[in-house]
Amino acid sequence: VSTWANVQQGPPDAILGVTEAFKADKDPRKMNLGVGAYRDDQGKPYVLSCVRKAEERILSNLMDKEYLGITGLPAFVKQAVKLAYGDELAASLNGQIAATQSISGTGALRVGGAFLSRFYPHHKKIYLPTPSWGNHTPIFRDAGLEVGQYRYFDKQTNGLDINGMLEDLKNIPAQSIVLLHACAHNPTGVDPTPAQWNQISETIKERDHFAFFDMAYQGFASGDINRDAQAVRQFVREGHRVALAQSFAKNIGLYGERVGAFSLVCDSPKEKAATESQLKILIRPMYSNPPMNGARIVNEVLQDPKLHSEWLTEVKGMADRIITMRTKLRGHLENDFGSKHSWNHITDQIGMFCFTGLTPDQVAKITSEFHVYLTKDGRISMAGISSNNVKYLAEAMHEVTR
Ligand code: PMP
Repeated sequence: VSTWANVQQGPPDAILGVTEAFKADKDPRKMNLGVGAYRDDQGKPYVLSCVRKAEERILSNLMDKEYLGITGLPAFVKQAVKLAYGDELAASLNGQIAATQSISGTGALRVGGAFLSRFYPHHKKIYLPTPSWGNHTPIFRDAGLEVGQYRYFDKQTNGLDINGMLEDLKNIPAQSIVLLHACAHNPTGVDPTPAQWNQISETIKERDHFAFFDMAYQGFASGDINRDAQAVRQFVREGHRVALAQSFAKNIGLYGERVGAFSLVCDSPKEKAATESQLKILIRPMYSNPPMNGARIVNEVLQDPKLHSEWLTEVKGMADRIITMRTKLRGHLENDFGSKHSWNHITDQIGMFCFTGLTPDQVAKITSEFHVYLTKDGRISMAGISSNNVKYLAEAMHEVTR
């Protein structure tokens, strides 16, 4: 027998598999609403102009290609921390935030998961919202943590099940690890209100849980980078020693550059130094050190006042386009096609995704009859919709939900 005869065929990735099917479809009306990547109103991938300018500068500086350190480009890491925690908190916690560059958000979650798996002194189990981004479970399981769940989405209201969530957070063992989406929850587009974040923070504190924030969409939810970081900052101000995974895939449009950061708020400079030393020991045998190009670009954009403000305008532009598509989609459904269903959730939800409420059967139908591709859970990427096809999508959604 062959050495690999016992390797079983695995299933395709639930999200990337949708793109494969889309590519094979020849119909000109086809729409790919599966993967969460921003498109402009012509449906084209979008490279931010601040990024193009940063790239030109980097190129003209004829920089070397020496290895970065294990935790990446120090100037970038500093900028990433400032962006997430805000100038004030970053300054007041100066010397207490352990941080490292990471291979985008996924890498930050994975390194953070591995760190918790090795050093978290209590039960090594992380609780995820139901549902959560499909990659969370495999990331944390492969990092060596057990994975549990807490209630999050209410199918009845297409909104947050705050009571179920708080109840679950009270009932899980004390000192559990709780994963929270900082903003623009994926896949539901449902975020807690500031008052609900208060309740969540109090419950987590009461039960002495540990909060691990995943912030893959800072700026993308509201168009305002500070507003989208509120939950993280509030938790830190209230004394939570959080872990944080950041991604620059969406908000600076650097998907394939794979740039992100992982940070951990420590109690003292001594703790921070020890934590960073252990992060290095974890990362070195994984991938040795991270790629430099994305980190250079982000650093250039964030540290240069002109590029920084240009970036803020561009993030807001992306967020606003998505919000406009929400309004249009709902408007066409209700006004042009007279759908009798409630579609409030399309405009209530926030960020890149909309959890439409389409059932698996309806998803299958909208794909086979209308060439609209999305994940089975009914999630659509709002960023994949444009002025040219939003009405077609509304018609398709109306037809399959009649
Ligand atoms: N977390 C969430 C919730 C996400 O939606 C994503 C991107 N789809 C990520 C993390 C990480 O993505 P990346 O590794 O591309 O930064």
